[in-house]
Amino acid sequence: MKLSDGSARGVAVLVGIVAFVVAMNVYILMPIQHSFRTAWAPYILAWLVYRLAWARLSVLRRCPGGCGARIYYRVESCPHCLTPLPSREKDPGPKAFHDELRAAELARTERG
Ligand SMILES: [Zn+2]
Repeated sequence: MKLSDGSARGVAVLVGIVAFVVAMNVYILMPIQHSFRTAWAPYILAWLVYRLAWARLSVLRRCPGGCGARIYYRVESCPHCLTPLPSREKDPGPKAFHDELRAAELARTERG
């Protein structure tokens, strides 16, 4: 499921808030000594969930080439630094299998 960048962020904020409530409850109920040294954990966790949810839902994603651009997930290369992006749409599985079949067929006709 892909949403536009803005609505993905809105959904991610909600997911992050839920994650924060859950994480804070878990933290409070955990049998550890609560102090300012560990109290940041639920905040960091919620922030990570928010970032992760946003990245997963949004049609934009961070360029893997490290140029920092946010690019549409279906483009084949980054328009900023021209890093080629691995496309999940092109699954080499069936085609590779077909090529293998054809090679086997060729080998058989050559022999026969
Ligand atoms: Zn780039």
